Amino acid sequence: MTHEHFELTLVNRRWVTPRVLELTFVRSDGQAFPYVPGQFVTLHLDTPDGEIRRSYSIASLTHDLGRIAIAVTRVEGGRATEILNRLAPKDRVRASGPFGRFVLREDTGMDYILAATGTGVSPYRAMLGQLEKRLSDTACEIRLLLGVRSPEELLYGEDFLALARRAPRFRFEACLSRSLSDPPAAHERRGYVQEVLKALPLDPARHIVYLCGNPDMIDASLEHLKGLGFALPAIRREKYLSSN
Ligand SMILES: Cc1cc2nc3c(=O)[nH]c(=O)nc-3n(C[C@H](O)[C@H](O)[C@H](O)COP(=O)(O)OP(=O)(O)OC[C@H]3O[C@@H](n4cnc5c(N)ncnc54)[C@H](O)[C@@H]3O)c2cc1C
Repeated sequence: MTHEHFELTLVNRRWVTPRVLELTFVRSDGQAFPYVPGQFVTLHLDTPDGEIRRSYSIASLTHDLGRIAIAVTRVEGGRATEILNRLAPKDRVRASGPFGRFVLREDTGMDYILAATGTGVSPYRAMLGQLEKRLSDTACEIRLLLGVRSPEELLYGEDFLALARRAPRFRFEACLSRSLSDPPAAHERRGYVQEVLKALPLDPARHIVYLCGNPDMIDASLEHLKGLGFALPAIRREKYLSSN
């Protein structure tokens, strides 16, 4: 798929957790925006020091090519964060995309571990329709680990819990580094996502692992998986870093 440059118009904004703002855009020219769930879009933002480019995974729950949602973590002192926090409906931003190879592949006969920190869960939300179809068409098991600090930061948790209720071979686990609910909910685990991952019975012959979000989580998990004998193509990664 080739990528294009275009303009986006904001149609909706809502806080999905205390620190994550969801922005929904349409293309200003009314065209569709074809993408594969798991891909990201790059925003070209004007600052007093010139243009900065920041990438955001498409987080849309439905694969509607007419509109895309992104989930933006509030980064203290972050330049894009500040601009995106001020956006109001009808505001426009330049963008390019879609980019990225962090997408679901065929992988016949394999089970999946999908791990994320914070907004790193956005690609998995966009994949939910594909994941549900795979669960109904095959015998695969899918386990999603989402690392956040506390239960109120559980981004899109309801969407994943709803799939877990519909599909018994889908498991959703919230890895909470600071606090659990009182009493803890059945899907809550204490600790960082990489610690929960390390405690799982992982098997290179059986599992494909997706890792998305915080670079430290990805590096720590990658080392662990390599130590277990996982080949690099079975460890799919998307690191959230600023580009300039
Ligand atoms: C492929 C890709 C997909 C991405 N998808 C998303 C997404 O879906 N949602 C999302 O929120 N971000 C995503 N990011 C990160 C995003 O592009 C920006 O890096 C992020 O929004 C911070 O940009 P900023 O300009 O606000 O902060 P900057 O001005 O770049 O950084 C300010 C300071 O904060 C630090 N910092 C940067 N990011 C973080 C962070 N996440 N947590 C803590 N400190 C940080 C920097 O090191 C710097 O010290 C993605 C990055 C990539 C490469």
